[in-house]
Amino acid sequence: GCGVDEVVAAFHRVAEVITAHRDELVDLDRAIGDGDHGENLTRGFTAVRASLDEGEHGSPAEVLKLVASTLISTVGGAAGPLYGTALLRAAKAVPDRVELGPEDVAAALAAALEGVVARGRAEAGDKTMVDALVPAVAAAERAVGDGGDTRAVLAAASAAAETGARETAPLVARKGRASYLGERSAGHLDPGARSTALVLGAFASPGP
Ligand code: ADP
Ligand code: MG
Ligand code: MG
Repeated sequence: GCGVDEVVAAFHRVAEVITAHRDELVDLDRAIGDGDHGENLTRGFTAVRASLDEGEHGSPAEVLKLVASTLISTVGGAAGPLYGTALLRAAKAVPDRVELGPEDVAAALAAALEGVVARGRAEAGDKTMVDALVPAVAAAERAVGDGGDTRAVLAAASAAAETGARETAPLVARKGRASYLGERSAGHLDPGARSTALVLGAFASPGP
C-alpha cells in the first residue's frame, strides 16, 4: 500500500531529486524558455519540505493538498499553477484514507493529467508536461489491470514518463514560452516533461 508516511517521504525524495537536477532543468529551460524552471521547482519543493515538517498529516489526500497549495504559492510561472492544479485534482480523486491502493494511485495520476489539461489546454504532442503524463497514466492503468501493487503502478508510470519526456525532443512546442520559438524549439527536451518524469521517478524509487 501507499500510506501517509510513505507519501510524505516520497515528497522529500522529490525535493532532493529536483534540487539535484536543478541545473539540468535550468539548462533545458534556457534552451527553449526563460531558464527559470529548475529554480522555480527547487524553490517550490524546498518550501514543500518545510511545510511537511510543520505538523502531522492524517492522509495522503491531506498531504497532496498541502503540497499543492505550497507549490501554487511559491513556484509561479507556468509550472506552479500546473503542478498545483495537478496535485489538487489528485488529492480530490483519492479516498480520504490513511492507506492508498494501486487503483487510487492510478486514479490520482489520471486526475493530475486532467487538471493540467483543464488548466493549460495542451494536447499530447504539444511538447509539455502532458507528454510525460499521458503515457504515465496509460502505463499506471495497465499495471493496475495486470494486478500490480502500488509500487508496480508507480514504477510503470515513472518508466513511461521518462520515455515520454525523452520523446519531446523532436517536437515543436505549441504551448507555453517554448512555442514562441516555433520550429526552433525542436531538438530540445521540454523542461516540464523532464521535471514530471523526475517527480514520478522519485515517487517510484524505493523509500528508506
Ligand atoms: P515559465 O514558462 O512561466 O517560465 P516554467 O519554466 O516553470 O514556467 O515551466 C515551463 C514548463 O511548463 C514547460 O516546459 C511546459 O512543460 C510547461 N507548460 C507551459 N505551458 C503549458 C501548458 N499550457 N500546458 C501544459 N504544460 C505547460
Ligand atoms: Mg521558465
Ligand atoms: Mg518564467
